[in-house]
Amino acid sequence: MSEEKFYYQTEAAELLHMMISSVYSNKDIFLRELISNASDALDKRRIECLKDSELAENENPEIRIEIDSDAKALSVSDNGIGMTRDEIIQYLGTIAKSGTKEFLRAAKDSDTQQELIGQFGVGFYSVFMVAEKVEVVTRRLGGSETFKFTSDGGGSFTVEDAPQRSECGTTVTLFMRGNSDEGAKDYLSEWTLRDIVGKYSDFISWPIYFKDKIINSRKAIWQRPESEVTDEEYTEFYKHLTHDYREPLTRIKINAEGTTNFKGLLFIPSEAPFDFFMNPDSGGISLYINRVFIMNDCKDLIPQYMKFVRGVIDSEDLPLNISREILQDDPIIRIIRRSTQRKVFGELRKMLEDDREKYAKFWTAFGRMFKEGIAQDQENVKTILGLAIYRTTHDDGWTTLAEYESRMKPDQKGIYCLAGNDNISALRASPKLEPFTSRGYEVLLMTDPVDEFILSQASFILPEDAKDWLNVARDDVIPYSDDEKKANDEKLSELEAEFEPLRKLALEIFQDKLESVKLSLTLTDSPACLRDGPGGISLQMERLMRSAGRVVPPQKRVLEISANHPAVRKLAVLAGTDRDKAGDILRVLYDQSVLLEGEMPDDPAGFVKRVDGLMTLALGDE
Ligand code: ADP
Repeated sequence: MSEEKFYYQTEAAELLHMMISSVYSNKDIFLRELISNASDALDKRRIECLKDSELAENENPEIRIEIDSDAKALSVSDNGIGMTRDEIIQYLGTIAKSGTKEFLRAAKDSDTQQELIGQFGVGFYSVFMVAEKVEVVTRRLGGSETFKFTSDGGGSFTVEDAPQRSECGTTVTLFMRGNSDEGAKDYLSEWTLRDIVGKYSDFISWPIYFKDKIINSRKAIWQRPESEVTDEEYTEFYKHLTHDYREPLTRIKINAEGTTNFKGLLFIPSEAPFDFFMNPDSGGISLYINRVFIMNDCKDLIPQYMKFVRGVIDSEDLPLNISREILQDDPIIRIIRRSTQRKVFGELRKMLEDDREKYAKFWTAFGRMFKEGIAQDQENVKTILGLAIYRTTHDDGWTTLAEYESRMKPDQKGIYCLAGNDNISALRASPKLEPFTSRGYEVLLMTDPVDEFILSQASFILPEDAKDWLNVARDDVIPYSDDEKKANDEKLSELEAEFEPLRKLALEIFQDKLESVKLSLTLTDSPACLRDGPGGISLQMERLMRSAGRVVPPQKRVLEISANHPAVRKLAVLAGTDRDKAGDILRVLYDQSVLLEGEMPDDPAGFVKRVDGLMTLALGDE
């Protein structure tokens, strides 16, 4: 087929443009990306050959760097899996990763761009930081045709037939840009190239040849004693593995000897990758067997709720040809999983005890994923609860459950909790806290969706000897003393008649929304609040289910009105004399309670209009 021209998908073109304008300051990494791709291609060839004995095994797997000073060209070749014509177009012409498009659009300034590029891996396009033209010549394993991709990083690229490569694999040739900048690096210099390979790609397990000499040590970094490896080397390895441009938060080295021998080098990232919670395939641990790469994201090595852990596990005891299907039931894998999990728990505990600030960073990034373990991992639920930290009314920081318990009042029946959406300041302002904080009880403030689930199922999920979790959104957990309760009840029955017109009016206006209206003496500052009706689905749960796409029938709530509040008392009088006016104010009161739940009023424009009316009234007419 003769030469054919293609246009880059819009997002790819935008990314290319950023590369050419070089928002990314460290240009050296283009070589790391090319070597990383070559290394992946060799891994893929090995694995495909294992599956299909018809395919030619690689006798001399290698990556080769060559320079042609006259042509000002640098090439990186591999004899890995190669690409078909369609694969070239798909892999080099588009950005496949989910979410990239939206994020690129959002990135207007160069700092954010740089951050984003780091997050989805700079990849192949980074070559355009240093090259004015790039050619990729490739032949797929098992294929007989060779193709050439050419691009100058503009809006298009071409693909054409090329003279047959003797073996499958890929050669990427960069025609370097002229060095107009003072002090720009000469990527055609032997010294520069060796330096970059040493810095970024030394641990690559396949040999990297330059001038017929192997220039990488090929030592698997996880096999080397920690004393021999510098922090920089570990960080570079982490970056190679994850495409994250930030330093990892923490490193976990495992050297397991005993019933089964394995080594592990794990990291916890400092922040969640941008597509972490959208893309179930990002994250995880790679499995190696005797230094040979087997697979990325081996799900059997770590439970789902710990998938933020990245890194490598290398087993000495598994057979090389192990298949994905049997991994799950393999007893060795199970031992590895257990001990890896234990090691991660241990490291987290250490971090929690030694460096609360660092731990809070971890928790902010991954706590909500980790907490799912409370509901998923019966066996380790105690350990996970011991590692959980929460916001609290005690202070602005975080607290563990043990710390909370140490501050509990002697008569306290359990741990008071309030779950809401992720707006912590709204939660702190919730009227539902008033009966508790005014009596000196501390309440945990929970902002993650999973908290609401755990809270609603606490009696089934939590271990038997754990303290009860009491949801303060329910009014039956308010800590009255017996005397208080009696006095309260007496006072309420005295007040009932006074508030009856208001109660009736509210039930009339909100007959679809309210199950009952309750007079309260426990709210100390707020005029009213909405509570979940007994037995129904809680508001938070309803929100959660809706966001998961479930249809939830409208739930009726309880409106609690404060008999202590002067405005409510006046409103009660008004309800007996001017129902229309009282109704308008009642609507404002109701919508305020809805807002405090983190929800929108049904009719925001009506709400604003009514508040406008009240403002005019308060300020007086002209
Ligand atoms: P990433 O490596 O993060 O997926 P890249 O932009 O670096 O992104 O590469 C895109 C894809 O192009 C790779 O996933 C791979 O499928 C293909 N590719 C790149 N280089 C090679 C190579 N040397 N051999 C085979 N395939 C390659």
